[in-house]
Amino acid sequence: MKPPIPEEILGEVRRLCNIVNIIGEYISLEKKGKNYLGLCPFHSEKTPSFSVSEEKQLYYCFGCGAAGNVFGFIMKMEGLTFPEAVRFLARRVGVHIPTPERLLRREKSLEEKLITANELAARFFCYNLVKSESGKKVTEYLRKRGITADTSEFFKLGYAPRGWDSFLRAAQREGCPPEILLKAGLVSSREGGGYYDRFRDRLMFPICNHRGRVVGFGGRALPWGDKDSPKYLNSPETPVFNKSSVLYGFHLARSYIRRIQSAIIVEGYTDAIAAYQAGLKNVVATLGTSLTGSQGKLLRSQAKEMIIAYDADAAGRSATWRGFNLLQDLGCTVKVVELPAESDPDSFIRQNGASAFNSLVEQASPVVEYRLTRMKVENDLSTQKGLLSYLEEALPVLGSISSPAEREIYLKQVAEVLGIPERALRDELRRYRRDGQRRDGGHNITLKDQTNNINQIKADPAEKMLLALMLVYNQLIGLVREELQLSDFSSSHLRQVVEVIWQMESKGSLISGEGIINYFSDLQVQQLVIEAVMDESLSNLPQEMAERMARDCIEKIKSQQLSQRWR
Ligand SMILES: [Zn+2]
Repeated sequence: MKPPIPEEILGEVRRLCNIVNIIGEYISLEKKGKNYLGLCPFHSEKTPSFSVSEEKQLYYCFGCGAAGNVFGFIMKMEGLTFPEAVRFLARRVGVHIPTPERLLRREKSLEEKLITANELAARFFCYNLVKSESGKKVTEYLRKRGITADTSEFFKLGYAPRGWDSFLRAAQREGCPPEILLKAGLVSSREGGGYYDRFRDRLMFPICNHRGRVVGFGGRALPWGDKDSPKYLNSPETPVFNKSSVLYGFHLARSYIRRIQSAIIVEGYTDAIAAYQAGLKNVVATLGTSLTGSQGKLLRSQAKEMIIAYDADAAGRSATWRGFNLLQDLGCTVKVVELPAESDPDSFIRQNGASAFNSLVEQASPVVEYRLTRMKVENDLSTQKGLLSYLEEALPVLGSISSPAEREIYLKQVAEVLGIPERALRDELRRYRRDGQRRDGGHNITLKDQTNNINQIKADPAEKMLLALMLVYNQLIGLVREELQLSDFSSSHLRQVVEVIWQMESKGSLISGEGIINYFSDLQVQQLVIEAVMDESLSNLPQEMAERMARDCIEKIKSQQLSQRWR
């Protein structure tokens, strides 16, 4: 396998490539306000609807919906893979990327040094938890959270002591040079020269690669620690630690996953540890980010059945969809554990005990069932509007079931919920499939040119504008939440985005369109967000003006709701 292009080189290329100049070499662009406008290279048109934002380094076509960043543009335009596109652009801006062979050789020795430094740190943190005076308080805290001494030892939990250089000094005594500690992300450099410990007064979770070697850490703040510091601090990406390819606990769970031919996937360290202690030893964690392709392949190499037990909040549900699609494409059977709202495996086990969690896992439902249940909860089925939107959402789910017998079973269920004859629903499904074929031009489209074929999303204009306003003016989110409920938004795509925005606001995260597209792999949803942030007319409005527009949208949405209800 070819080694990946190092992150620092990727960043360098990204920094040096101005998307306006790169795209400007293919089509002529004209400055219109803050953005640049030109004729779209991906569909034929007479009036320009292809917009490029220099500030956001994104492009978006209002005609066909094509959207992405500079690497995506080159991949599409030149028909290249991602690494090929990076090399292509690197040559253009004069960044040198070593050949794959050279990268491999350079990394070998550095890799080994970084792992050695991480393993030294793991031993140091472990020692401090078990043997030092200051570790006692942390041990007490672990017991209070229900983590036994055996479990703590099994996962090699540790404690990074208070103070600025306890680990740095210990590592130097062992002959480990600070430059290596810096590259391993274990220390940071001081402005005036010198180094200090990255992890201080934290509970430490060592993260291992699939061979069981320590490549990084997650550090959790302790209840008595500084309130302003982040709850979790992780190792940065290094040549040995790539968050998107590591699965927490995989080296410990692998043999169990193989034996029972099933893996449980959770979000966080504490979820994995709690599940392990509850007797479910085939558990791995994706560490907050959603499941990636390489993680999925790693799991698929061991077993076919995957059980997703993500947090029961909007972000967790959205990650569940993405994980499901990815795993299904890899040929897995996927089930979903349904936790009570706003809980996660760790909190659930602490409140309800191990056996309650075990039975939830046993009852994990196939994804189709899980989705149909969620739709029933999310749509108000006492209104006609709710019933119609339930139908719209159920059709693609029914259409995705390949087994005819299975499809019949669910078709029956959905018809019952809607209170219509099965025959009518079958007609609807046929119509849906026929329309789908027409949309795709009568033949299957490949993934590569999917973006060329998306139609503009039909969402209510007032709802679209309100979404854009929330993304540009975060301070309006509170107002919208007071006035509207999720179910007031009629488009399911839009509802997904709004739900994540609200979730992020509750957590106090910074919200931007550029950041939020990373939550969605669905191109239609991505398109909706990019469309909203590219809307020039909404930037730089005075605060009162933005608020008045938001209130207008809210009124419109409410009155549409009312008229729907009385129709
Ligand atoms: Zn276009």
